[in-house]
Amino acid sequence: MIIVMNKTATEQQIDSVVEKIKHLGHGVNISRGTNRIVIGAIGDESKLTPEMFDPMPGVEYSMHIVKQYKIVSRESHAENSIVHVRNIPIGGEKIQIIAGPCSVETQEQMDLAAQQVAAAGCRLMRGGAFKPRTNPYTFQGKGVDGLTIFRTAADKYDLPIVTELMDIRMLDTFLEQDVDLIQIGTRNMQNFDLLKEVGRINKPVILKRGLSATINEWLMAAEYIAAGGNHQIIFCERGIRTFETAYRNVLDVTCIPVLKRETHLPVIIDPSHAGGKAWMVPALSRAAIAAGADGLLVEMHPNPCDAWCDADQALNPQELTELMQSLKGIANAIGRSL
Ligand code: PEP
Ligand code: MN
Repeated sequence: MIIVMNKTATEQQIDSVVEKIKHLGHGVNISRGTNRIVIGAIGDESKLTPEMFDPMPGVEYSMHIVKQYKIVSRESHAENSIVHVRNIPIGGEKIQIIAGPCSVETQEQMDLAAQQVAAAGCRLMRGGAFKPRTNPYTFQGKGVDGLTIFRTAADKYDLPIVTELMDIRMLDTFLEQDVDLIQIGTRNMQNFDLLKEVGRINKPVILKRGLSATINEWLMAAEYIAAGGNHQIIFCERGIRTFETAYRNVLDVTCIPVLKRETHLPVIIDPSHAGGKAWMVPALSRAAIAAGADGLLVEMHPNPCDAWCDADQALNPQELTELMQSLKGIANAIGRSL
């Protein structure tokens, strides 16, 4: 940690900072420049926080030098990590497209969707049984019945399932239903108790980016999961909130190379919740794959007009098939495959 003193800091104020650092069991290095004095605290940084120094008289600011996320950082693991969902690798040479409806509705709808997802060439299926809706009076998801419906439909086509966990109390049910990949949604990215719980289990987790989360906050949220022992984490960018109203959210494509630099874990993109319109999904998907995403989480409904949730952004089965075709060329161009 370094503590930068302000221009007018007195020797007595500098001494106080030095004493505090020593008292906390750290070594001290004082660097006297022409304008500023910078005090370095030498030792285990994790024991120090800026709040310990920032309020002290004469201190301009203090900051950590080493990144606060450790397990998820590329500093700790140089190679790309591959997260396996059953036998399907996410984060390797192969790009994985996870498709399916926003919500589980009926057995017929899910059976048809599973058949269409498999026919399009996707190896994993998505579908929400517990839905985080803005309006409490709208459809909230089929709940536990939805999980059973989903499992039944996906098993017919041997598709691993991806579904959102909103409440810790449902974790045992998710494990009983053998949910293959647990999604932590945008609204729960910083639900730290939920993150700690999924950190204790042996199941892959998709961690969606919070609506207005910085990349650092997102990485720290992933570190919560990793710190519990579960390192099977996949980041999912799904668009962030900005001043723009022409689309639902802004897909932050820039986060792909940044995350790839900062973490060894896989990164996927949800173009559906980013654009919020089905017609935007192909363009956003292609941009994401070209920028280095390891996969996509895409909404597809057998009949989008009848979807109970997010009807406007769901691809139809034909559009999903066409998207898969167009992504093949992009994947090949960057030395990957679908
Ligand atoms: C979803 O994937 O169904 C969903 C609700 O996404 P988000 O958490 O990104 O809004
Ligand atoms: Mn949705």
